[in-house]
Amino acid sequence: MSGESGSSEQIGKLLGQNLGQKLYEGKAKILYATDNPDVLLTYFKDDATAFNGQKKDSIRGKGEINNAISAHLFKLMESKDIPTHFVEMPSSTQMLVKAVTIVPLEVVVRNIAAGSLCKQTGLELGTAIEPSLVEFYYKDDALGDPLLTIDRIRLMNIASDDDVNTLRTMALQINDVLKEFFNQCGITLVDFKLEFGRDRSGTILLADEISPDTCRLWIQGEPDPKKRVLDKDRFRQDMGNVEEGYQQVLERVLKNSPL
Ligand code: UDP
Repeated sequence: MSGESGSSEQIGKLLGQNLGQKLYEGKAKILYATDNPDVLLTYFKDDATAFNGQKKDSIRGKGEINNAISAHLFKLMESKDIPTHFVEMPSSTQMLVKAVTIVPLEVVVRNIAAGSLCKQTGLELGTAIEPSLVEFYYKDDALGDPLLTIDRIRLMNIASDDDVNTLRTMALQINDVLKEFFNQCGITLVDFKLEFGRDRSGTILLADEISPDTCRLWIQGEPDPKKRVLDKDRFRQDMGNVEEGYQQVLERVLKNSPL
């Protein structure tokens, strides 16, 4: 495991600065307060987990790569008038973000069948999905992030019907932007997970990250189903060269950037 997931002091020392109070530590990121109550600082760790935390390791350079890819994709969203929590990237492993209350839903968009969809439905890996599928999972590790229905979201009072419609519309808009951009990069966007938050005024913003940790990304024109994978499936399925896959995504994103 990486030794970087320690206290604010340890990480602050590493970065040569004083960090605010540590507010939350997740599997891949740590959240710190800043002097401004409306702005928080995210630190991207090298730690990787899969299967609800059962598989753990550290991938050298992952934090920097995911921070850079996420920052770039958030800026791309902003350029298309899709609001995000992104403020700026003060260092290679840090992102300043607007303070939001996270909606406890993981919003998954699927363009091609893979992962849990194949396991649960028997659909063959690689089956095209049209129109794209939007799914809502309950963000709760103890329950194993279960798939929800609209009626369950209502029953559990997680979000209003209007909010669910907003999340679905935003997720599909984000999918259109990401699909087109990754296509320019020679990468097929198979599926991805988004998280959203509400700012103080109640506006829903895209939050969390968009990276090879949260997307399935396949190199176009690569017939070998193992070699085409550039994302966290390299880690989940012990394919090796995880960092190289992530690095390749970053290089293609930067090379094809319209920003
Ligand atoms: N995903 C994620 N975090 C999660 C679960 C899924 O980022 O806790 C992403 C995953 O990387 C993939 C998409 O959401 O791009 C769909 O994942 P799936 O439901 O197929 O689950 P998995 O096969 O990862 O268990």
